[in-house]
Amino acid sequence: MIEGMKPFVMTDACPCGRLHQKKLLAYGACCGRWLETDAPAPDAESLMRSRYCAFVLDRETYLLKTWHPSQRPANVAFEPGVKWLGLEVRSHTVQDATHAQVEFVARQKPAVGAAVRLHERSRFVLDNGAWLYVDGDAL
Ligand SMILES: [Zn+2]
Repeated sequence: MIEGMKPFVMTDACPCGRLHQKKLLAYGACCGRWLETDAPAPDAESLMRSRYCAFVLDRETYLLKTWHPSQRPANVAFEPGVKWLGLEVRSHTVQDATHAQVEFVARQKPAVGAAVRLHERSRFVLDNGAWLYVDGDAL
């Protein structure tokens, strides 16, 4: 059962825009592998991309599940009418076996007003075999 307001087809191009051999990966071959199953994303970049998709698809449960308990909010407030325009991963830095950072730019168009860029360096930790988002610095 797909939660959220925006059902997504597994064969559609993944919202995160990940390329494989210069072609867009299908959702079912990319972030859908983590969003639609209980399998954990294998690295911080994959987790970050899947969390971007979770914002696109209004998947609150997935966002909370992949948020480190120390920073996890009680709920996720999705802005109504936001259109996510794309994701660009700038870098994925593995610091040690359990810590990594991902720098990215996500673009969105609010219901009212001009498109905005969210440029962030996010911190991730590997906790009990699953990568979790901790927090990030806006750049
Ligand atoms: Zn993806």
